[in-house]
Amino acid sequence: MKNLRDFTYEELLEEVRGLGEKPYRAEQVYGWVYRKCATDIDSMTDVSKALRERLKESYSVEGLKVLEVKSSFDGTRKFLSELSDGSRIESVLIPEGDRLTLCVSSQAGCALGCRFCMTGLSGFTRNLTLSELNGQVFAARGLLNEGETITNVVLMGMGEPLNNYDNVLRFVSILTDGRGFGFSHNKVTLSTAGLVPGIRRLGAEANINLAVSLNATTDEVRDRVMPVNKKYPLEELMDALRGYPHNGKKHVTIEYVMLANVNDSIEDAKRLIKLLRGIPCKVNLIPFNPFPGARFQAPENHMVSTFSKILQDAGYFTIVRASKGSDIQAACGQLKGRYGEEEGERDSAGG
Ligand code: SF4
Repeated sequence: MKNLRDFTYEELLEEVRGLGEKPYRAEQVYGWVYRKCATDIDSMTDVSKALRERLKESYSVEGLKVLEVKSSFDGTRKFLSELSDGSRIESVLIPEGDRLTLCVSSQAGCALGCRFCMTGLSGFTRNLTLSELNGQVFAARGLLNEGETITNVVLMGMGEPLNNYDNVLRFVSILTDGRGFGFSHNKVTLSTAGLVPGIRRLGAEANINLAVSLNATTDEVRDRVMPVNKKYPLEELMDALRGYPHNGKKHVTIEYVMLANVNDSIEDAKRLIKLLRGIPCKVNLIPFNPFPGARFQAPENHMVSTFSKILQDAGYFTIVRASKGSDIQAACGQLKGRYGEEEGERDSAGG
């Protein structure tokens, strides 16, 4: 059985043509899947009965199995889903003012092994399929309170999205398709640990926001904190960011997890300013969220405010991101996909 949530519009068009049907049938079915959130083929009432019967022979509409939902005192909701092979992923709904952001995972686990990240410490299982990416949006919609709408989507959960490039790009096409989920391009952000070829390709092929998890100002420290830096060192990464298209409105977001006595000094702040020269960007400073067994510590408050002020004085829009959902381990770097096992065990993070 093929899952109807596994197709972009163009792919569904091909399927429908293969069945000898007219192209408008693809639009009807696609509308039922994404706009009307149909969970079975029988409910697609304006699709002819004969076509529905034929579709049912080879297609289904399968969602994720949500195993558990945890809610934070600040309104953040984290949900754990099980995939068909038993892998588990986490996704997070984060309210902030009039925004409600869905943080989506792109892989089960992650191969990049960032040292401050729970997901990275737990290893890599596999890439998510399109229906598993889409499934997180459908599952999140099922958790909304009355009057709530998801306003933004960030690919910032478990995994490195650029390592699952093709499926992620298909997902982005559905997110930003008016016949699909219908988000504006400006409301979709992909966060990477710094895969240079993927950044260049994304800049050429998609029109979405880019965030980069930077977290160090020298190759020596970044090699230690993020092993991917050995492959794509800072100079190469900064060059790719300088080339990332921006249209006046769009800026690259620099994510900087502050680790006490590792990357939080005044010298780091000054070096960061030099590194960012020529890159239209804003900076999110994220004080590290410690987890049991973590080898890093949270920075002191005065280090965070000094660091932030140096960047602001240099003209960079800088915010210190309050960690939402840290009481339910939904904060940046704390996703791992294994509820029910977590107490007393080493926790790591997802980026
Ligand atoms: S921070 Fe992101 S890229 Fe790095 S290990 Fe964690 S999930 Fe992977």
